[in-house]
Amino acid sequence: MKIVIVGGGAGGLELATSLGRKLGRKGKADVLLLDRGHTHIWKPLLHEVASGSLDAEADAVGYRAHAHQNGFTFKVGSLCGVDRERKVIKLAALTDVDGEEILPPREESYDYLVLAIGSVSNDFGIEGVSDHCIFLDSIGQAKTFQRRLLNRFIRLNRDLDKSDADNTMHVVIVGGGATGVELSAELFKARQWFATYGLKHVRPEHLQVSLIEAGPRLLPALNERISGAVHTELENLGVSVNVSTMVVRAEKDALVTKDGERFQADLMVWAAGVKAPDFLKDFGGLEVNRANQLLVEPTLQVKGDSSIFALGDCAGCVMKGDDGEERWVPPRAQSAHQMASLVGKNIRNIAANKPLNEFEYSDYGSLVSLSDFTAFGRLMGGISTGSLNVEGRIARFAYVSLYRMHQLAIHGWLRTLLVTLSDRINRYIRPKLKLH
Ligand SMILES: Cc1cc2nc3c(=O)[nH]c(=O)nc-3n(C[C@H](O)[C@H](O)[C@H](O)COP(=O)(O)OP(=O)(O)OC[C@H]3O[C@@H](n4cnc5c(N)ncnc54)[C@H](O)[C@@H]3O)c2cc1C
Repeated sequence: MKIVIVGGGAGGLELATSLGRKLGRKGKADVLLLDRGHTHIWKPLLHEVASGSLDAEADAVGYRAHAHQNGFTFKVGSLCGVDRERKVIKLAALTDVDGEEILPPREESYDYLVLAIGSVSNDFGIEGVSDHCIFLDSIGQAKTFQRRLLNRFIRLNRDLDKSDADNTMHVVIVGGGATGVELSAELFKARQWFATYGLKHVRPEHLQVSLIEAGPRLLPALNERISGAVHTELENLGVSVNVSTMVVRAEKDALVTKDGERFQADLMVWAAGVKAPDFLKDFGGLEVNRANQLLVEPTLQVKGDSSIFALGDCAGCVMKGDDGEERWVPPRAQSAHQMASLVGKNIRNIAANKPLNEFEYSDYGSLVSLSDFTAFGRLMGGISTGSLNVEGRIARFAYVSLYRMHQLAIHGWLRTLLVTLSDRINRYIRPKLKLH
């Protein structure tokens, strides 16, 4: 049996690791992971890569070595189509940065295919956004932002050295969800460290961050009390928070709102919502929802093809809310983690000729971290069946634990312990900010 998993992200890498250990190593199946990149960074950390708090080169997991250690194989490749009758997927030509072809377009056969290719930012077709704003969908984009941020700070420091004229760097972030909120706070931490590491003319008043949200409040997934507390905390840091503000156009150096207000910007980040990649709209005739997510059965097999599974942000899975209303399972790391566990079980059940299980989403709450300053969140279940608002150190601990759980799923106990230890050591020996 050949199992092909496309996408080595929050869900796909956990699945490949678990199937590699349980089936691949025992010779019960060939497990192949395909990804368009060579390394994995847990996506909720991308805003830290963007601000320079996290060094993607040092903290990423290399797919090839990880595959070798865990009983599966890895190939680099970008999925672009499928022939369901022949059971083959199509991979685009692989080119280097100069556009030179490394590998031609290829096909890869499968018995079971798992799609775990995540999501991309949704610009909702708003004019100029894809041309002028940076998205935080991949390590490459996060690094691009980090480089531009560093260059802007260097230029600002030089200008401030030359004259006392009013020089300010404006960063505008659209989207008041976790990504926008967390990135806003990270930028203030970055400013502090740039000043410490030699860009000494840059003072707090020289960085202006504006956060724009179309809805009436930040973090709609969290309750109003937490959303209000985060709003206040961001304003205390110096972020200009603009809710009920709809962006209608992006220009080279500004965002324009429905009311005609212009937000002048040196850097613009778009984090206002996600959709699954556009090519899924025409992927072997499979059904998708408005966010391009492949519709799945409760077993997480896509509707109309029992040999294909979808999980994580690219899967359109319906759940029943507390109010009895049907809604989509949210595109979050914990959803990808839970779906990867179920797909893993179901593929092992197929190998053992057992019936398949159905997916039930458990909401363990939401957490948002304002860099090293503080964290807020809501934890569900546990001792009580209700929810518990947490903030400060407890919330920060719970936030970090989410990442540790992902590391546990891919590295096991011993390695996670060692990685945690080495993270602690690195805190002392590495600079607090990536400066190159
Ligand atoms: C900045 C940021 C902060 C976030 N913070 C949180 C948070 O605090 N809590 C939370 O729950 N969620 C958070 N999320 C959302 C969370 O990261 C996603 O829901 C989660 O990563 C989805 O997992 P996934 O496995 O579906 O996809 P991903 O983790 O996105 O992985 C997709 C993988 O597929 C690969 N891929 C994509 N297209 C192709 C292709 N065509 N061919 C081959 N490979 C491909 C990609 O390279 C990637 O490795 C955040 C997201 C961002 C961007």
